[in-house]
Amino acid sequence: MTADTITFPGESALPGEHLAEALISSGNLLHNFRRIQEHIPENCRVMGVVKANAYGHNALWISKALENLGVSDFGVANVEEAVPLRKHKAVSGSSSILAFCSPLPSHIALYLKYDITATICDFNMLRTAESIASAHNIPLKVHVKIDTGMGRLGITPETAFHLLKAVEESPHLRLAGVYTHFAQSTRHGSFTAGQLETFTKICSEFEHHTKRSICKHAANSGGIICRSDACLDMVRPGIMLYGYPPDDRLKNNIDLKPVMQLRAKVIFIKEVEAGTTISYNRTWTAQSRRRIATVSAGYADGYHRALSNLAKVSIMGKTYPQVGTVTMDQIMVDLGDSSDVRVGDNAVLFGWDGPSAGDIAKAAGTISYEILCAVSSRVTRVLA
Ligand SMILES: *Cc1c(COP(=O)(O)O)cnc(C)c1O
Repeated sequence: MTADTITFPGESALPGEHLAEALISSGNLLHNFRRIQEHIPENCRVMGVVKANAYGHNALWISKALENLGVSDFGVANVEEAVPLRKHKAVSGSSSILAFCSPLPSHIALYLKYDITATICDFNMLRTAESIASAHNIPLKVHVKIDTGMGRLGITPETAFHLLKAVEESPHLRLAGVYTHFAQSTRHGSFTAGQLETFTKICSEFEHHTKRSICKHAANSGGIICRSDACLDMVRPGIMLYGYPPDDRLKNNIDLKPVMQLRAKVIFIKEVEAGTTISYNRTWTAQSRRRIATVSAGYADGYHRALSNLAKVSIMGKTYPQVGTVTMDQIMVDLGDSSDVRVGDNAVLFGWDGPSAGDIAKAAGTISYEILCAVSSRVTRVLA
């Protein structure tokens, strides 16, 4: 599996050096996967959450790598993300792909054609899905989603049992699972416990009624770390696979390694006198004679403008402050009076050799998730 043999749709990188690239470490992915496995019961399955292009890491590579580790369940946001995984054979025909979003009626045919599992949240969608599946005469796999407190998608707990029964009785629907999602899985307190209790009660009632067990899942990364009782039959880790805790306060609870390193080339170096200002709106002024490097990544690559004058970058193992306003295509870095750095060196914006995506998130006032997902399609993904 190399960058040459699999390219992400829409990606047509030139061979050779890249001005900005995201190195993807399958070794660190494996490390994180093992740490997750240590946290969950032995008979509990791991769904690989690969939505949003695997949090920016290249969903085709990550899915393939996870399948090689034995994962046979994948989660994506919607059917549009699911279809390329099938088309490019990133996952095999025997693995399932669950789309978390409630489907659009016009997309049901795609679910059927590509064997994607649909999330059913109400009776309207159940009827629509049943009639389209019936017209195609192909069974549609579904998971029912129950809203136990997230307030985003799902059937209310009061009617969940009836929806489950109605799916079970629909001739062209195959009930393959039932799930819920936690609103504050990393916080202490009773809210998550209440969500879990509501969920498991409905599931037991249904399993008792049908006399068969069904795949029940609830835990995202926060649930896995903070609530071992929430693991049930399957867990749905996303951010932990990619090397970050769901909340920075939990970073000592599990040993994870970043899977992505974002780096860009130093493309220009100049010496400036005291009083020289750098970049748009002149938000930084040199206090003395300095060397300033221009690095070839900016907010169009996913390096947020909010990081202006707040972040650090690492070049050849040394840390330097980013100075001046982040521009669309470049940032500037204050090298001080150091003359070690040369044009063509790599500046690590975040990853295993530089600040973490968590550090960058803190500086930008956001979470590691958003920093990873923001890495844009202009950045070439390269297997490390
Ligand atoms: C994104 C998502 C996950 C993964 O969440 P993490 O916090 O990244 O582990 C799990 N389940 C659902 C339904 C999601 O949307």
